[in-house]
Amino acid sequence: MDKINQSRRAVFRAAVATGCVLCVPAAFAADGTTKSTKPMPGDASSQVKKTPQASAQYQAKPKGEQKCALCTHFVAESNTCKLVEGKISPDGWCTLWAKKA
Ligand code: SF4
Repeated sequence: MDKINQSRRAVFRAAVATGCVLCVPAAFAADGTTKSTKPMPGDASSQVKKTPQASAQYQAKPKGEQKCALCTHFVAESNTCKLVEGKISPDGWCTLWAKKA
């Protein structure tokens, strides 16, 4: 058995022994020949953390002519925002407002 397979086996054993499912992808990447570029469920990179409404100074009324319905981040189908947490009014506004193209 070559050195790379021994190393991979050792990582697998450690993963099983500790019940660490996150170590398994590391075992595949241990020899450098297999590398996953797809985010794993639960990875921080696969989740987008939205900004709390208070932090974005969200308000349920427009600011002048600026309102969520005209913002590039607004998702009309669900009355949500790509950046801000919770339900968003089409007539709302926050400091992250950006004109829809
Ligand atoms: S104005 Fe703010 S809350 Fe409204 S859609 Fe744009 S980013 Fe989201």
